[in-house]
Amino acid sequence: MSKIISVIIPAYNEEKNVALVAGEVVSVFSNIAGYDYEIIFVNDGSRDNTQSEIEKLANANTKIKTLEFSRNFGKEAATTAGYHHAIGDAVIALDADLQHPPALIPEFIKKWEAGADVVIGIRSASPGQSVIKAICSSIFYKIINRISETPIEPAATDFRLIDRVVIDEFNKLTEHDRMSRGLIDWLGFRRDFLTFVAPERLHGEASYSFIKLVKMAIASTVQHSFLPLRLAGYMGLFITLTSFIGGTIVFIQRYIFDDMFGWNISGTAQLAILMIFSIGIVLMCLGLIALYIGSIHNEVSGRPLYVVRSRKN
Ligand code: UDP
Ligand code: MG
Repeated sequence: MSKIISVIIPAYNEEKNVALVAGEVVSVFSNIAGYDYEIIFVNDGSRDNTQSEIEKLANANTKIKTLEFSRNFGKEAATTAGYHHAIGDAVIALDADLQHPPALIPEFIKKWEAGADVVIGIRSASPGQSVIKAICSSIFYKIINRISETPIEPAATDFRLIDRVVIDEFNKLTEHDRMSRGLIDWLGFRRDFLTFVAPERLHGEASYSFIKLVKMAIASTVQHSFLPLRLAGYMGLFITLTSFIGGTIVFIQRYIFDDMFGWNISGTAQLAILMIFSIGIVLMCLGLIALYIGSIHNEVSGRPLYVVRSRKN
């Protein structure tokens, strides 16, 4: 029996693109032997005619399936829904706007057959990207790779092939604020990379607004790192220590050695030192609470303790 490849395509207001992308995927599979395919369009609450366009395609070709959301839930949710419903031995997610060229599907499959569980598309250049977006994303990845527990490849995209084993593990993850890319990276497995050039979006506008991207950046930082939480604690520790040392010197100088250096520090300044000291203690307590919240976060996100790749007997 031939292996089945599921192609997941999240689509939000892509009425002009869906037929083109489906056409390209179908022609790719008609040119490679030995693989069956399904195309799952996840219509993420489009406000244009995307749904009727997809339905037209689905009527003409039973391998094209559609999942329509009740409203816009975002690309992450759409991709996840695709992963949940895919039946293939491997799943490839790609954008509807043809920025992830379907012509590369055979190369993804080749790397998969060569033993990779996850084949990740690495974007080498994207002519349409704005400078600000590029700078922000480079800063974001620098920071998150410093503080995150799982490294995230900067130019890695959602354009990736995932083996059934990985999909089954991915589908067990229940957290809500998600960046599927980060979660797949967290899962591990044997990974391989495939560099591609992202052409400009075909029709329509990129719906990933700057604010949406910032929101996603925050969500993934919170998901993968506790450093922001701990910062308050570190700050408190620093403030408490320095003001304690400084305060001790000042008070000894003033009250034990009777101002022998003649610093003449006013009562107000002494009070200020005392207040800074207590603020430090409060911040330290916040850091302490952060440790507990971090552990609650860990429990609530319900990630498995470990992920098994294979097992014999
Ligand atoms: N998309 C989606 N829901 C959204 C926004 C986008 O399903 O709320 C889909 C969109 O139809 C496209 C893919 O996600 O297939 C990538 O979106 P876009 O091209 O806007 O983003 P970018 O190319 O900037 O990553
Ligand atoms: Mg795009």
